Amino acid sequence: MVQAVVGANWGDEGKGKIVDTLSDRADIVVRYQGGANAGHTIVNQYGKFALHTLPSGVCHPDVSNVLGNGVALNIPLVMKEITDLVSRGVPEPKLLISDRAQVVMSYHILLDQYEEERLGGKSFGSTKSGIAPFFSDKYAKIGFQVSELFDDEILADRIEHILPLKNALLTGLYQKEALTVEGLMEELHRYRDLVAPYACDTASYLENACREGKTILLEGQLGTMKDPDHGIYPMVTSSPTLAGYGTIGAGLPPYAIDKVIAVTKAYSSAVGAGEFVSEIFGEEAETLRNRGGDGGEYGATTGRPRRVGWYDVVASRYGCRLQGATDVALTVLDVLGYLDEIPVCTAYEIDGTISTDFPTTPRLKKAKPVWEKLPGWKCPIRGIRNYEDLPENCRSYVEFIESRIGCPITMISNGPGREDIIYRESRIREDAV
Ligand code: GDP
Repeated sequence: MVQAVVGANWGDEGKGKIVDTLSDRADIVVRYQGGANAGHTIVNQYGKFALHTLPSGVCHPDVSNVLGNGVALNIPLVMKEITDLVSRGVPEPKLLISDRAQVVMSYHILLDQYEEERLGGKSFGSTKSGIAPFFSDKYAKIGFQVSELFDDEILADRIEHILPLKNALLTGLYQKEALTVEGLMEELHRYRDLVAPYACDTASYLENACREGKTILLEGQLGTMKDPDHGIYPMVTSSPTLAGYGTIGAGLPPYAIDKVIAVTKAYSSAVGAGEFVSEIFGEEAETLRNRGGDGGEYGATTGRPRRVGWYDVVASRYGCRLQGATDVALTVLDVLGYLDEIPVCTAYEIDGTISTDFPTTPRLKKAKPVWEKLPGWKCPIRGIRNYEDLPENCRSYVEFIESRIGCPITMISNGPGREDIIYRESRIREDAV
């Protein structure tokens, strides 16, 4: 049984919490794309953790965690995350790292920073984790695979190839210090020694696990709007955020995924620049930002205040469709309990025409939100475990969103903790576990 847990929107939908909750019933959790440029927040008996690269199953001692071939692997950061978890009482996680994953180098991070500086006000709002330069190198075939770290001849050849390229950029365009052969070799050897205990053929491992009927969760990073093909290009990330890529980034066959759980927040939020039609501003936004998430809407990796807005049906319907969602998890519903009325963006107006289709970026730039207002429920809902026990207006809100996005909401998250979850049994397909 393979389930993908992915974002329907801009990221930060609460995927980490959903994966942590579902890990109770899972054997393996896999990260298959992205890198340390976004965070997943999980809250459990050990405390609150902002994970960046490690899969969100790491706090379950019986779960094996895999960093698949599609991940941008920042080895020192992964090691630091493990040390941090262990120092806070979490048992040493079971971790396997694909020998085909590629390594984020310190120059990727530098190049990312220098490029953001160069672009100034026109920057992409990168988290400066080296992700764009890393993926550029991967597809230009000048990256380093984990397996290659163990072959000095390959490393020396590759360094010879890339050094003039990188130094031309560093010293020419950015006027910074040049890299040296010795410096790069030392860095690669350091990474080799750190990653050696974890490196293996994770695709074969997962294939065997599938054959043995194990439950595997594929954990996506960010969301549909940040997908390089289907998102709000160019304000996107550099690796696919869609469930479809889950099989590639994990090394599974395309038909392996049984269930796609698209996670969507009961309102909207986004970090960094880019189109965000249902965004709100001023006091209204400040109130939602401070009440939002678990202790306010601030980035798990960067601490940056997130942009916030009301629920966007147009973006979410598109987001779920592109993910191929079989199920939707609606999160952070508890936060909306303070509102008399809850605005929902149900369509976009573009050049005087109303549409519910999500457009390409040039048209998206012109889109204005069309609002409908739903009555609020004006009471706390944390602690409720049965859907029928939610206030009527709250259920109406859930069912309104469900009917508009066209996909069953089978899970509702009403708090940051593992146990704050309502399964809507009536909406769970018989054939899905
Ligand atoms: P991810 O990247 O999709 O895993 O999302 P983040 O972890 O960046 O952001 C989600 C935030 O919302 C975190 O602070 C979570 O602890 C919090 N969170 C998740 N689900 C809920 C929920 O149902 N209610 C509340 N209040 N907070 C939640």
